[in-house]
Amino acid sequence: MEEETKQIIQDSLDALYENKKFLPDLTDGVREQAFTSLSAIISTPNNIHKSFLRVPREDGTIERIPAYRVQHNDSLGPYKGGIRFYEGVNEEEVVNLAFLMTLKNALHQVPFGGGKGGIVINPRNYSEKELNVVSRKYVRYFADVIGPDKDIPAPDMGSGEREMDWMMAEYKKIHHGKPYLGSFTGKSVDNGGSLGRREATGKGVYFTFRYLIHDYVLAHKQTLQETGNPFAQTALAHAERPLKMAVQGFGNVGSVAALEASQCHSLNNRVIAVSDRNVTLYNEEGLDIPTLIAFTATNRGDLPTDQEQLGQAGVTAEIRGRDELLTLPVDVLILAALEDQIHKDNMQDIQAKIIVEGANAPTTRDADAYLSDKGVIIIPDILANAGGVIVSYLEWLQGRETQYHEESEVFRLLLEKMKDTMDTILPQYFGDPYPLRENCFIHAVRRLSTVLHKQGMLY
Ligand code: GLU
Repeated sequence: MEEETKQIIQDSLDALYENKKFLPDLTDGVREQAFTSLSAIISTPNNIHKSFLRVPREDGTIERIPAYRVQHNDSLGPYKGGIRFYEGVNEEEVVNLAFLMTLKNALHQVPFGGGKGGIVINPRNYSEKELNVVSRKYVRYFADVIGPDKDIPAPDMGSGEREMDWMMAEYKKIHHGKPYLGSFTGKSVDNGGSLGRREATGKGVYFTFRYLIHDYVLAHKQTLQETGNPFAQTALAHAERPLKMAVQGFGNVGSVAALEASQCHSLNNRVIAVSDRNVTLYNEEGLDIPTLIAFTATNRGDLPTDQEQLGQAGVTAEIRGRDELLTLPVDVLILAALEDQIHKDNMQDIQAKIIVEGANAPTTRDADAYLSDKGVIIIPDILANAGGVIVSYLEWLQGRETQYHEESEVFRLLLEKMKDTMDTILPQYFGDPYPLRENCFIHAVRRLSTVLHKQGMLY
């Protein structure tokens, strides 16, 4: 596990312990012992599976592609988490992401544990046929450790419903005659996926921001005005005026979050910048997000990179450098690209007072501490981007019952769950001095520790 993550875990555990929120009914000696056991359980994953996928390329060469499945903890249910197709994947990163899945599920009371997969590959350099082989081999290598009641993968960066359909089909072939619909989530609707799964993360990201900054704050205005809490002050200062927003990443999460923001007319917020791996597009009046989404669908997922492409798309915008987006004078920054985007070298230049983590771990610990000290509200990944796994849970349930919900019902259940979590967390957040990430971690770890204690695992 990365040093930084270990430190975050330790900080949260310490806060949990000091505040007597950790198993308060235990006597002191027993409590101390249980705490030591909990720390050990949380800071090490249960299993790290690694393999090399042997993939014949269409040019006749053979590649050995490293692939991982990390199973962090399954106390709350089967391991659950996406499979990342990305050339920068490494073991530590997958362990880290699996740990975040354990906390994400615990926080939102989704009855799953935490897992994550990774394949060291840049999918853009492979043909569809080759990616099909990669996906099927992944399942073949990890066939014994995954399954509807063991470990349920889903899409993540670089993978989507196409890969999940292939993987489920391979799983079905291997485990002939056994239930298979719940072996993967994020499948296409034709293959037993849930309506709304593709949009779920982006919708959840936007909803979390809107509920926290606008709805919740307005409903509790008076109480918040009376607290001296710096985060409450930041929220109050932004709740009742139109906000300028910038969205980093225009994939499945960023584009949907940007669309939601641009279509939420009651708030009058404006998405003035979006970026992807090539460029930042900027328009002070607000970008035409639906038109940009339509353009990326015909351009291998990429935003326009020059005036000619902007002309083809029919969008008015200035083209800026990719990373300029992060330091623009905006109120809200939605981070929906990669991890470690705001770090100690650029944290001083961040102007946004609200940061929403659509990606996993996009803010480093240093940057989080620095910005939180200045009253910046950072809505952390495990709170903001849980929409995907929440709808994965609905998909898994629907697969068991072979009964499917309407899209509107899926979104209703998704937003209700996210709202419930926020209603539990926010009174504490606006009442004590911890940043939101720490609050969410404390809450998730407390839930985990109660379950582990009752399962007799904390001796
Ligand atoms: N990959 C997504 C995440 O990081 C979804 C995981 C899932 O649906 O299991 O939350």
